[in-house]
Amino acid sequence: MTELKNFDKTPEASDIAHHFHGYTDARRHQDVGPMIIESGQGIYVTDNSGKRYIEGLSGLWSVGVGFQEDRLINAATKQLKQLPYYHNFGHKSHQAAIALSDQLVELAHVPMSKVFYTNSGSEANDTVLKMVWYRSNALGKPEKKKVIARTRGYHGVTIASASLTGLPNNHRSFDLPIDRVLHTTAPHYWKEGRDGETEEQFATRCANDLEALIQKEGPDTVAAFWAEPVMGAGGVVVPPKTYFEKIQAVLAKYDIIFVADEVICGFGRTGEMFGSITYDIRPDVIVMSKQITSSYVPFSAIMMNDRFYQPLADESHSIGTFGHGFTGGGHPLGAAVALENIAVIRERDLVANAREVGTHFLQRLETLKESPLIGEVRGVGLISAIELVNDKATKSVSTVGKLGGLMNAAMQRNGLISRNMADAVAFCPPLIITKAQADEMFEIIAKSLREVESEIGSA
Ligand code: PMP
Repeated sequence: MTELKNFDKTPEASDIAHHFHGYTDARRHQDVGPMIIESGQGIYVTDNSGKRYIEGLSGLWSVGVGFQEDRLINAATKQLKQLPYYHNFGHKSHQAAIALSDQLVELAHVPMSKVFYTNSGSEANDTVLKMVWYRSNALGKPEKKKVIARTRGYHGVTIASASLTGLPNNHRSFDLPIDRVLHTTAPHYWKEGRDGETEEQFATRCANDLEALIQKEGPDTVAAFWAEPVMGAGGVVVPPKTYFEKIQAVLAKYDIIFVADEVICGFGRTGEMFGSITYDIRPDVIVMSKQITSSYVPFSAIMMNDRFYQPLADESHSIGTFGHGFTGGGHPLGAAVALENIAVIRERDLVANAREVGTHFLQRLETLKESPLIGEVRGVGLISAIELVNDKATKSVSTVGKLGGLMNAAMQRNGLISRNMADAVAFCPPLIITKAQADEMFEIIAKSLREVESEIGSA
């Protein structure tokens, strides 16, 4: 137990008194208080009442190797003892960042050239947007500054990355998005597909929408396109067949950079090392965070090819410096943990485990479609979601978020932590999950769904 300075307060009361939470209704928090997690082991975490849960979302889609991997802890300790901090400004470097850059370029499925380091997914996307602008200036195309992301995409919460994010809660009341950041159709066939439209026809329509937007804005003004291979926080949206093939054809036609946001998909989540491999994406830029260190240390990285990098290098040379970089960028602690984390993922073949256990888990989720409340089951590898509806025929809900909220609460009662995004409930367990543990998780989901069915039935 954490010792508190103020002995007349419970940790719950202290949390309410002084802790402003992200992604939380702050007023409601005063009434319901925090859920305090004390420890973790493997795929499980335990709260301060001693109750154990499966962490069905790997924290925030990120703890790939599980909650107490000694190899990462030892790598962190060793690095802290040897060199707890150094930076990479002004030609300085250190072994951990050098080795990690080598490792990442080697892991890439397409020819990559350089890695730039940041501290979070948001910071990484923010940095890429600045690089896109800098690059267009370097190329003598100052008008080529607009970028296109997708409705329901998630790229973070800084001013630029929240603008790239295509979700209302990240824009509303924050005066976002900023100019020059546009959004195109979310590739969610089940939700956006029209009557009689096949999956492939829908993919064609998405690509046509993108092209129409580029035409409307002026092809010479659009510099980059952002996409997660599988949308995560937008509700786990798996792209329809042929989608990325058609999107990439449009981007090639107009000389537009492809930024793959692999913050969730990277390092095995989709059953390949990168989600871009699963969907045959050949990105110019890959953004990585979360599972790169299994979130033991905040860390992120931007990997880019020469097409993207060379103009940046030229421009920095003519100005005399690349005027961007973070105190913590490429931090030795994060870099050392990332290297060990990637070694664990490779040696234990957790990518294959994601594919195999993920396929089994998805097959079990599919059986839930018999429930009157399940509109769609979707996923790939170890990232999936169920979408709850009140009316299957119209795919509608009576109150947005109600069923998702009930389901989430039921699962938590029954020992499974996950997260609902409106009425989609996501599953993204640690990559180390075994088949037996996936079954254990499924049983909790099925039981919770039965409970929600009877709650709704008796309402
Ligand atoms: N991109 C994607 C795809 C993400 O899922 C997230 C975080 N959920 C981010 C970017 C932002 O990362 P961070 O929270 O570390 O800023």
